[in-house]
Amino acid sequence: MKKIIITGGAGFIGSHVVRRFVKTYPQYQIINLDKLTYAGNLANLKDIENEPNYRFVKGDIVDLAYINNLFEVEQPDAVIHLAAESHVDRSISNPLEFVMTNVVGTVNLLNAAKTIWKDNYADKRFYHVSTDEVYGTLGDTDMFVETTAYDPHSPYSASKASSDHFVRAYHDTYGLNTVISNCSNNYGSFHFPEKLIPLAIHNIKQQKPVPVYGKGENIRDWLWVEDHARAIDVIFHQAAIGTTYNIGGHNEWKNIDLIQLLCSILDKKLGREAGESAKLITYVTDRAGHDLRYAIDATKLKNELGWEPSITFEEGLEKTVDWYLANEQWLSDVTSGHYQEYYSEQYNNR
Ligand code: NAD
Repeated sequence: MKKIIITGGAGFIGSHVVRRFVKTYPQYQIINLDKLTYAGNLANLKDIENEPNYRFVKGDIVDLAYINNLFEVEQPDAVIHLAAESHVDRSISNPLEFVMTNVVGTVNLLNAAKTIWKDNYADKRFYHVSTDEVYGTLGDTDMFVETTAYDPHSPYSASKASSDHFVRAYHDTYGLNTVISNCSNNYGSFHFPEKLIPLAIHNIKQQKPVPVYGKGENIRDWLWVEDHARAIDVIFHQAAIGTTYNIGGHNEWKNIDLIQLLCSILDKKLGREAGESAKLITYVTDRAGHDLRYAIDATKLKNELGWEPSITFEEGLEKTVDWYLANEQWLSDVTSGHYQEYYSEQYNNR
């Protein structure tokens, strides 16, 4: 019997990882440790909340005494660490919160794991989930590989880069059984609607302006969130100690082309005339320090562990749009209150 603490399991990617592990491995005990910030939502896990191998605990990874006690009491065999402050725009307004959660929180977890495992790491594992944003920005043709030098430009990516360095330092210094993956942009169900794709779907549906940074020229590599969760499963079970894997969709899109595609999908689904939704596109002042292009080379993951994306972007996007159209209650619950204030501060004056 394996006991795994998954941090950030009430968030977007974390909820997909928790669901996958709870359903695929009934012999494991899954503990979802989450602070339930604005981005954490237990409604994301309604379908598995009563499974016998699942438990939720509300806690803050920055709270050292709490984390030490939790690890002492639970004695987990493994940690899959996703809890983070994850939105670049919020990191620009409040960098310190990102340092606390993403850096201090990660070091608290590393220490707690090291302490209870007492330097005996056989059958133990600390899996840190990270982003391709740590690598910085690319020119026209190159791609990020696992050995690309770190060059973060936003407070978010700087905090994630720092947490990655701490994870490697705990492997190199103490021999902790660590593994890291750096993934490209995810999309799919349960994605908080401050991020590009769910925000655009939400606004197009409501016939509100769809904000696009700068000229919409920035390029991102998109991966369906359930393919990311499957990659995490494969890496968790098969990666050698101390290794890193890049995860990506080989699927680059200019922001403006992606938004145009979403507009045309929604025109059809909502019975609007072709081109009607695209009239909502509103260019807003570019994000400071905005990286132009990210692209992941996931060859190592494919060659060594046999993982590849399971669906095309067009299929995944269609599924995602359908999910948002079918889950209006989820969307209206998360777009009420505090989020509305933040959203109007971010976009109203642009
Ligand atoms: P998210 O913002 O949707 O979820 C983060 C979760 O962490 C939330 O449930 C939140 O309540 C929880 N959390 C935040 N601070 C906490 C704290 N102090 N203690 C305990 N829990 C806390 O984020 P996401 O998009 O699901 O990203 C998950 C992880 O994957 C992050 O580490 C992120 O850096 C990484 N990642 C995200 C993407 C992406 O496209 N979203 C891509 C690559 C990597």
